[in-house]
Amino acid sequence: METTLIRKLACAVAVIALAGVAAHAETTAEILSRVDARKDMTRDVSRQIWEWAEVGYQETQSAELLASTLEKEGFAVERGVAGIPTAFVASWKRGDGPIIAILGEFDALPGINQDAVSSRSPIAGKAAGHACGHNVFAAGSLTAAISVKEWLERTGTAGEIRFYGTPAEEGGSGKVYMVRDGLFDDVDIAIHWHADDENSAAARTSLANRSAKFRFRGVSAHAAGAPEQARSALDGVEAMNMMANMMHEHIPQEARMHYVITAGGLAPNVVPDFAEVFYYVRHPETEGVEAIWARLENAARGAAQGTGTEVDWEIIHGNNPLW
Ligand SMILES: [Zn+2]
Repeated sequence: METTLIRKLACAVAVIALAGVAAHAETTAEILSRVDARKDMTRDVSRQIWEWAEVGYQETQSAELLASTLEKEGFAVERGVAGIPTAFVASWKRGDGPIIAILGEFDALPGINQDAVSSRSPIAGKAAGHACGHNVFAAGSLTAAISVKEWLERTGTAGEIRFYGTPAEEGGSGKVYMVRDGLFDDVDIAIHWHADDENSAAARTSLANRSAKFRFRGVSAHAAGAPEQARSALDGVEAMNMMANMMHEHIPQEARMHYVITAGGLAPNVVPDFAEVFYYVRHPETEGVEAIWARLENAARGAAQGTGTEVDWEIIHGNNPLW
């Protein structure tokens, strides 16, 4: 089942990539049979990345497995691009032709671990897992990139095929830093996909988003013995959340705003001097995110002022929409 799925995905990506440069006639069936010939490698890489289940920016083994496999296939690999240890670009070139990029993600999700069975069955000792199939994504793209390279080689076609090892898709926006460093500037086409339960072209957009951790700092004291001396950082978080929840009624309906409290104190009888809330804001347009974001920052400032606490925030990630 897993092998069949990855095979189909690798084939689809390779065929789409080749559609742009197919100056030489070679039937889809021939290309598929060559992808098929690599099914054991594809399955093994997918399974290994699934086993490692490394979270964003810590995908050391997964990135190295992909990079070294591509190197063995004749690709030139540049590791640690954009200042990210697990980001890499592998390329193979013949003459001057179009530059085709195939993206590969390989990060796992924290807090999710699951055995390969259909009922809930966490694996003891594992803190993360591949919930949405980035292991399949990486292995399928790997085989597709190698297949395109072989096709260019075999047919003598001019062109360049690149595999972009893009870390931290899950909330880390690894690609943003790679784009900012100009790594995609000369690319003619970038092929991106995601594992799903069917093969189809997803002609849909994704929302622009921005996230930040808002950190409130107050004064701790015993909650019964000297509450008047305390200023609760958790009050700051709760006041901010209350304003944000009221704001929900007055933002465009296509916007999304959600949060989790990532620190809120340790015991009810100790007024917390530190609390943190992690926010996401999403909207179809970047400008829409920015407008809501400015109001959210005001809510944070107001919450701090009203509760006698201080607040600062760290932007965690930001993306333009995918059109
Ligand atoms: Zn995913």
